[in-house]
Amino acid sequence: MVGGGPAGAVAAHVLAVSGARVMLLVRDRPNVDFTVGETVPAETRSILKRLGMDCLAPDRHLQSTGTIARWGSDAVHCREAIINPYGCGWLIDRQLFEQQLIAAAVRKGALLIKTGRIKIGSARTRWEFQIESATQNICMSAGYFLDCTGRTARFAIELGARRRIYDRLIAIWCQMEEQSGLQDFDKQIYVESSPRGWLYSAQIPNRRRVVVYFTDGDLCNIRKMKSRKIFENYIANHFDLKTVTSGLQYGIVAGPFCVNAASTRLVRAYGDNWVAAGDAAQSFDPLSSQGIVSAIVGGSNAVAALISSHSARRWMMDNFQSDLDHKYAGYLDERLRHYCANNDGRGIRSGDAATKPKQNCSLLVLLTRIWRRHGFGYVAL
Ligand SMILES: Cc1cc2nc3c(=O)[nH]c(=O)nc-3n(C[C@H](O)[C@H](O)[C@H](O)COP(=O)(O)OP(=O)(O)OC[C@H]3O[C@@H](n4cnc5c(N)ncnc54)[C@H](O)[C@@H]3O)c2cc1C
Repeated sequence: MVGGGPAGAVAAHVLAVSGARVMLLVRDRPNVDFTVGETVPAETRSILKRLGMDCLAPDRHLQSTGTIARWGSDAVHCREAIINPYGCGWLIDRQLFEQQLIAAAVRKGALLIKTGRIKIGSARTRWEFQIESATQNICMSAGYFLDCTGRTARFAIELGARRRIYDRLIAIWCQMEEQSGLQDFDKQIYVESSPRGWLYSAQIPNRRRVVVYFTDGDLCNIRKMKSRKIFENYIANHFDLKTVTSGLQYGIVAGPFCVNAASTRLVRAYGDNWVAAGDAAQSFDPLSSQGIVSAIVGGSNAVAALISSHSARRWMMDNFQSDLDHKYAGYLDERLRHYCANNDGRGIRSGDAATKPKQNCSLLVLLTRIWRRHGFGYVAL
């Protein structure tokens, strides 16, 4: 299993519970203190409980009371948590959440290895991994492998999987901290469309608030927006953060960072003795708030397909793929509907692209693919 996000950790846990010998390779990144993605729907807790990983508890993570949206007009739409039969959604401490999931997998017997670079090669029936860490290089082999490396789908792409990219969405995000010592009681999630995209804010544990601006990469001067002062000005002018935090003193303590938030999917998320799960298989517009829960469900479904008996595996994998395809088709329709509902013309670009997948096909990517498939002679040609 490569990747220590929700998909990798859950897959490692499910696989370890089934009795398999599991190696979970996670990136050793001691200097990375922040990860974005903190809103989790209420249903997630019962899914995790069923998997035996009850990590969402109110003493570690916050419970959200609902969502307030201004989408395409100044009308305010509220969705209160009280009308959800599963209860409140969650505003998680993302790093703690991932550590909890990994710890649960390790308790069930998964072997956790923190790595630097990983190289993968195949030796007939087994995969061979060369793992480089700060102190040593190790070679290991495995019968099956899961790519849970997030949107990069690092190893699936290396093995020749084709990826479709549906838009150019990027996210510029920061964490803010309340500095006057007062408590922020507002546990609602705020979503608001803006002329070239949309903004989002939610409180997270440790007296912090995350603010994210989503737009298309070609509509925004990223370098400028990554300046703390400019970003602070932008959110003060375009986002109702002032009302949300009135009387409080929030200042940026981390970021702004820019990350890719495009909707992407692999045309086929499995191959001989490998499978991709979570964002590596398909990623969603964060507007849908379904990335983490889909990664959790996807990780456990991928394992179910992988550990099925040899004769049933092909059928299970095809089923796994058709579930993914079906889900993604529904998601693309919904996404388009939402961006079109933003009918004063604001932030409509990402939805426009829904019908036109953009192939990830720069000249370099194309040459690399030809080289892998046919050898150097063809590239020279
Ligand atoms: C700006 C933004 C906001 C979001 N907000 C939300 C939200 O509020 N709610 C929600 O549900 N979803 C949200 N998402 C989506 C959510 O974060 C993802 O869907 C979810 O993290 C997917 O989990 P994953 O395990 O598949 O991938 P990831 O969480 O991306 O984990 C992949 C892991 O693999 C590791 N990795 C990558 N390459 C290698 C390698 N070569 N070797 C070893 N390890 C490697 C990475 O370091 C990482 O730990 C958001 C996404 C973005 C971009």
